[in-house]
Amino acid sequence: MTDTVAGPSLAAGPGIAEDDWAAAVAAVRGLAPDARVQLVCHVNPDGDALGSMLGFGLGLRALGVRELRASFPGPFDVPGPFAGMPGLELLVPEAEAYAEPDLLLVFDVAAESRMGPLAARLAGPGTCVVLDHHATNTGFGDVRLVDPFAAATSVVAVELLDRLGVPLDREIAECLYIALTTDTGSFRFDMTTPRVHELAARLLATGLRPGDISRRVFDTRPFGATKLFADALARAELEPGAVGGLGLVWTYATLDDLARHGQQPYVLDALIDPVRCVAEADVSVVVKQTGPEEWAVSLRSKGAVDVSAVAMALGGGGHRLAAGFTGHGTPDDVMATVRAQLDQRSVT
Ligand code: AMP
Ligand code: MN
Ligand code: MN
Repeated sequence: MTDTVAGPSLAAGPGIAEDDWAAAVAAVRGLAPDARVQLVCHVNPDGDALGSMLGFGLGLRALGVRELRASFPGPFDVPGPFAGMPGLELLVPEAEAYAEPDLLLVFDVAAESRMGPLAARLAGPGTCVVLDHHATNTGFGDVRLVDPFAAATSVVAVELLDRLGVPLDREIAECLYIALTTDTGSFRFDMTTPRVHELAARLLATGLRPGDISRRVFDTRPFGATKLFADALARAELEPGAVGGLGLVWTYATLDDLARHGQQPYVLDALIDPVRCVAEADVSVVVKQTGPEEWAVSLRSKGAVDVSAVAMALGGGGHRLAAGFTGHGTPDDVMATVRAQLDQRSVT
């Protein structure tokens, strides 16, 4: 017997209606030569957010779009792992985003709140096309290219580039490859379908150096971040009996931890990785301070728990096995809300 992959995930776009693809193509093809195009991705951008946005932006530039800006809400800092990404020259700070773009393209954004003040652009007169893959997407925008079966937003972006007839050059491919490897955990997660590997093969065929890219994106971290991880991992707590016996492991990191080790907040994005490896727990949580009583919370499950439902109930979103939300109070307060949600869902 051969293993088969669940039908819908073999192809990108089963959840995207042909009419929506046509509307997105028409929105780009119908642009006047001087039209202003604004690209936006989510706050605290990850590899898929930046990579799908900048890869698509470079594709638009190849199509002849001249008035083109890309942005994300919050401080105008590109996380170190993405400092070498092609297309960074398209980025402008949040305040310099077009006030009334003719076309707004939104990448990897599950909910309008993830666009911060840039969400105001959604109310403008221009068309808004949303490219995303979160099952929890709240359904904003005029044209919605949202495919929960896509491994990354970049899979949706590449399909739209194909439909627009944009060839994938090496720079576009590098952006999309970073996006694809980030969201699939370097081809380890369940969304890694044959189609994902076919796309990776197309991208690699442009002459990418996957070793260089992975070293930059995944395997490079300041020494201070290593010491910060050591502090945060030393205070990790394992609750084997939690989640109906499935087990919970969690830790937290504060702004003081960041300051003490001279680190930027983005370094904490990778802290969930050693935590989620703990064998005795299905669910893992990292609580990362972003303000006096505000925390960005990362949730992961090995498979038994739908953490996107937990995150949604707490005002966030994400995917079944990887999700997040904004928490308030102390880390213990935040964990109390998480435990309460997990307890409701552990026996399914
Ligand atoms: P993270 O733990 O930050 O890597 O996020 C895991 C997943 O949850 C990603 O797909 C995020 O886009 C999503 N996510 C994280 N935080 C939020 C939030 N506050 N609202 C909606 N989705 C979120
Ligand atoms: Mn993302
Ligand atoms: Mn994504």
